[in-house]
Amino acid sequence: MKYRDLQIQTQREFPSNMRTEGFGWLVRGGYMTRENEILPLGNQAIMRLQTLASQPSFFSQLALPIIANQQETFFPITTGSVEVIHCSSCGYTSRKEIAQFKKMPFSKEEQLPVEKVLTPDCNTIESLANFLSVPKEKTAKALMFTRVADNKFVFVVVRGDMQLSEAKLKKLIGDFRLATSEEIIKSGAAAGYASPIGLKDALILVDDLIPESPNLVAGANEADYHLKNTNVSRDYTAEIVADLVMANEGDACLNCESKLDLVNAELLAEENDYQFGNILYALAETHNDEKGLTFPKEAAPFDVYLMNVPSKEMDTRAKAEEIYNMLQDAGVSVLFDDRDERAGVKFNDADLIGCPTRITVGEKNLKEGMVELRPRKEKVNTLVRIENLVEEIKK
Ligand SMILES: [Zn+2]
Repeated sequence: MKYRDLQIQTQREFPSNMRTEGFGWLVRGGYMTRENEILPLGNQAIMRLQTLASQPSFFSQLALPIIANQQETFFPITTGSVEVIHCSSCGYTSRKEIAQFKKMPFSKEEQLPVEKVLTPDCNTIESLANFLSVPKEKTAKALMFTRVADNKFVFVVVRGDMQLSEAKLKKLIGDFRLATSEEIIKSGAAAGYASPIGLKDALILVDDLIPESPNLVAGANEADYHLKNTNVSRDYTAEIVADLVMANEGDACLNCESKLDLVNAELLAEENDYQFGNILYALAETHNDEKGLTFPKEAAPFDVYLMNVPSKEMDTRAKAEEIYNMLQDAGVSVLFDDRDERAGVKFNDADLIGCPTRITVGEKNLKEGMVELRPRKEKVNTLVRIENLVEEIKK
């Protein structure tokens, strides 16, 4: 294709709304507008990626620092919209809301008798733990919902230091919403002071760490009172014991017990459903230098950036056109910069756009039957005889 056909407009400056370096280079290279619209050059890049995606080694050819599980492939980046839990030792990768981790029981101790205590204005885990001078791990957090399908009152208990994963709960019981204050009162619970002890018609779920956490402080279902030393099975029965909580940075990996990382990432693929726009971003973010983009061969929009240096004596453009046709006939994809611009302008654009090889057709070398070949990532030019050009490029 020709430079002018694609109406490429490179930019001298980074956009003022540059979110990431990759975005900045894509705008400067003429792949997209600063308003995030893909331009013809960007579409060309995406089309090449689409062709490449049919190969099983797709992601390894892109040389991206991806993290993945069997279903999803992610690209870690601080601006990413997905929170992912990742183990750098064994590679475990999961969206945060459904990630698993190895839970550490707080303590092993004898079950003690239940004791009702006055806890005025302690309707949060924080205030309760402070008031009783116990760690949050020794408290039971109560969450109350109503199942949408049958209006069943749902009571969930997780340890006070942990957060419920709504995604995990939904997998177990289907859609739910927050319980109304009427529904809470009707079940026998008291908001802010609730526990599953003595409730009517409630579906009780506890996180699987609760049976291993003896003597938790829980609500007394009466305003301003809590119960010390509550124990599931002895004091109430849970219909479902399951993993219900969110993994966090620093938790132990379920596979290898290493510390888990929490990273922001963009989704690149879900099974064979590829997000090509995000893949282009990831490539630009990963493959660039101080002059522009440096796409790997397989992922570049074109194999070759071909340019002529306009001159008065010889028609370098006509010679470059011949080379353009020769390369295309040989199956090499070429971006032909046939503009009437100074060499320096074209060199800059070639660096910004980042095709793996630049070929320069100039008068001096043409007289010797040669053109200049320069790999994008190297600083050395080589002179190649025109008849050997195809062979050299395909190396
Ligand atoms: Zn691990």
